[in-house]
Amino acid sequence: MKKIDKKELLRKLIYAKKTCDKCGSIYGHDTTTNFFHNFTWDKCDICGQTKNVAPATEFACFITGIRKLKEELKNETV
Ligand SMILES: [Zn+2]
Repeated sequence: MKKIDKKELLRKLIYAKKTCDKCGSIYGHDTTTNFFHNFTWDKCDICGQTKNVAPATEFACFITGIRKLKEELKNETV
C-alpha cells in the first residue's frame, strides 16, 4: 500500500462512525462475538459499500488498525 493510501485509510478509520463486519474485523480488534453487534442496513464508512453495518464502537473504534497504520507510517521515509 502506498503511503498516501495509508494516510487516507487512517483518516477513514479515525472518523468512521459505522462499519461492515468485514472492515471491522480487518481493522478493528479481532472479534468472535458478532452475535451481539447492532447491525443496520447502511453504507460502510470504510469500504463505502451498502451492507449490514455496526457502530465503529463495536469494533473498539479500529484501535488495532489505527495503531498499526501509525506505526507503519512512522517507520517510512517521506
Ligand atoms: Zn466495509
